[in-house]
Amino acid sequence: MERKNVWESYSTKQIRECDLFNKEYRDFLDNAKTEREAVNVIVNLAEKSGYVEFEEAVKKKKGLKKGDKVYSVVMNKSIVLFNIGEEPLEKGMNILGAHIDSPRIDIKSYPVYENGGFAFLDTHYYGGIKKYQWVAQPLSLHGVVIKKDGTTVELSVGEDEDDPVFFVSDLLIHLSQEQLEKKAAKVIEGEALDIIVGNKPLVINNSKKTDKEENKEKDPVKAMLLKLLKDEYDVEEEDFLSAELEVVPAGKAREAGFDKSMILAYGQDDRSCAFTSLYAMLVTPNVKRTACCILTDKEEIGSVGATGMASQSFENIIAEMVNLEGDYSELKVRRCLSNSTMLSSDVSAAYDPSYDSAFEKKNAAFMGQGMVFNKFTGSRGKSGSNDANAEYIGYIRKIMDDAKVIYQFAELGRVDLGGGGTIAYLMAKYGMNVIDAGIPVLNMHAPYECTSKADVFETMRGYMAFLNAPGM
Ligand code: MN
Ligand code: MN
Repeated sequence: MERKNVWESYSTKQIRECDLFNKEYRDFLDNAKTEREAVNVIVNLAEKSGYVEFEEAVKKKKGLKKGDKVYSVVMNKSIVLFNIGEEPLEKGMNILGAHIDSPRIDIKSYPVYENGGFAFLDTHYYGGIKKYQWVAQPLSLHGVVIKKDGTTVELSVGEDEDDPVFFVSDLLIHLSQEQLEKKAAKVIEGEALDIIVGNKPLVINNSKKTDKEENKEKDPVKAMLLKLLKDEYDVEEEDFLSAELEVVPAGKAREAGFDKSMILAYGQDDRSCAFTSLYAMLVTPNVKRTACCILTDKEEIGSVGATGMASQSFENIIAEMVNLEGDYSELKVRRCLSNSTMLSSDVSAAYDPSYDSAFEKKNAAFMGQGMVFNKFTGSRGKSGSNDANAEYIGYIRKIMDDAKVIYQFAELGRVDLGGGGTIAYLMAKYGMNVIDAGIPVLNMHAPYECTSKADVFETMRGYMAFLNAPGM
């Protein structure tokens, strides 16, 4: 079967549109490096497109009517948007669902210590990473510190050119004979991923020294760090207990290749699908069937927690919506969910010619060949996978072909080599039809992941077509 290359099919005009779109995409990546930052950016974009906060409608007991556009934020870390259609909710919705968390390094509860003249922050990594990829490169720190009085200190250090950056050290090659004998999984251990955040000691004038300051001098570099944090951010050591601070690669998303055909950037799993889903949602006009876009958290650690897809928060919002429609019943909630159709907007593995044996080429996703559908993911005999129904795939193929979207089907690598999962199986639990659909990514979960601009653009077009579909 012939496969199409997106670039070969694009006119000059389309290439320009694709480039412009990808510029917006890069801006999103730069401004949304954590799930909290992503929610902020998404709320701003949604409000500019006429979306209003759903909870306001609930408070005012204002009914929902067709054409209403609402969003609801869960704990500042996940968000869901609705474009209310003509049909009643119990007929189901067209749902796009991506995740806005990405693999990274988190700061521990008691992180601050000094060793060998350095101040460190102790860390615990989040999601599946190759630890050795995170050493010896500039890192930035993002997140919030919540003080006891409830005030929030927002931190983002390391992105501006004048900002300092942080880093994890690696052993110099000259002394690495023993280290290089280790397996890649053990070369850098989890506890060795602490970040270096200072090297200058606090100097206290000897004549004015108090008892407390005597103590501080045992760890003068740590003391200096704590003083800086207090002076600049009004953050004390105890405040780390109620903080969520994330360490990510510093710097902006870049175009890659002489032909500038690709994007190299942190967090494209899954903010590439999050942005394209959001964009499709925001440009979708009034619809017959309610359109929904979920941008969830915690996918990289199993979709657990109140802001993850396994939580009931999504169901709760649907129940509130059905209630606002008037004449509430639980049966309507269940019908709404089971009659919905969904694209689980998540990235897939792009074929990597340097690691050919990890793929089965006939069923691999190629960069530049468009949006990628995974009928199933899972590992070792499809275990843990949502295996999308053939009937549903037939319906999806028609939508994509009618909209002239260039797409491909793929498996996540060779059989018996590994695997992965998405939120698809959690949504399938409601009895709805779901399939994974998104963007192929090269070196997924690395600090810098690579996508094709053409695939990003085609996927956005595919999501748009899906949101306007009639339902099965
Ligand atoms: Mn993902
Ligand atoms: Mn992932």
